[in-house]
Amino acid sequence: MVPVDHEAERENRREHSDQCPSHARNRSPRSPPADASAPHISEQVYQHSSRAAAAPIRLARHMGDRRLILWDIDGTLVRWGPVGRGVFDRAVSDVLSVDPDGHGVSMGGKTDPQIALEIMRTLDVPDDEATRALPKVLSALERATSAAFEEFRATGSAHPGVADVLARLHQTPGVRQTVLTGNIAPNMRVKLAVFGLDSWMDLEIAATGSDSADRRALVPVALARAQEVRGIRYAPDEVWVVGDTPRDLECARVASVRCALVATGQNPYGALAGLGADAVFTDLSDVEAVVRVLSPVAAGGSG
Ligand SMILES: [Mg+2]
Repeated sequence: MVPVDHEAERENRREHSDQCPSHARNRSPRSPPADASAPHISEQVYQHSSRAAAAPIRLARHMGDRRLILWDIDGTLVRWGPVGRGVFDRAVSDVLSVDPDGHGVSMGGKTDPQIALEIMRTLDVPDDEATRALPKVLSALERATSAAFEEFRATGSAHPGVADVLARLHQTPGVRQTVLTGNIAPNMRVKLAVFGLDSWMDLEIAATGSDSADRRALVPVALARAQEVRGIRYAPDEVWVVGDTPRDLECARVASVRCALVATGQNPYGALAGLGADAVFTDLSDVEAVVRVLSPVAAGGSG
């Protein structure tokens, strides 16, 4: 077990005490956790990015020297231009020969099959017919996404700090990174490759929209693959989901793993800060802060 650097955490609290909620300021650093159902939580400290108000993170008493980090893609690592939605329109149009433009379906935090079914619902496609059409729509979505590789590159970008954070974590002992995404597997690979983000990921253990239309089912998929493929059995407090929507937080919570939210998608910081995530960032540009939160304590250096 790697000990928590309590002095560094106390310094962190002193540095940011003016920004902490009053209930947290009044809590002794060594007070027992308020939530008796979370017996592993022994410390509550505050971490923030350079432009964010302080947000709470929790450190476990027996934090180990391993971390599995499950990255969301869209809105968290990258942003896209209209092509992000356009490939869905092209896929549905190819299969159903109708123009779904203007369907208004929100996509944040949803899986590709979930989005495709919702689009078909706006077109008054009966549910049973939509279910039958879904495999064809997803195949068409795969073709449309592959064909749009250069369009993604030309109109999209990786969010600030992403490449540096991924590279730093890749070099951190005990840290393994993969994705937990609603994209179907082929599109996950395309979207990561557009900006070369796949080179830091262990994609053999990724969990994607090809595994389930329900994002809440995906953390167990990644954990099972980590055990089957890498022979590593991660404890819940060794696992982080990093995403940009309340759905990312929900899929982490149902699996009792940690969650960091980043406000680079369609949800502003203020909308994410009150949801109870373990950490909230405006973006990932404060590389040191992000790496410190997501790293094993010893590797994080200053705690
Ligand atoms: Mg997202």
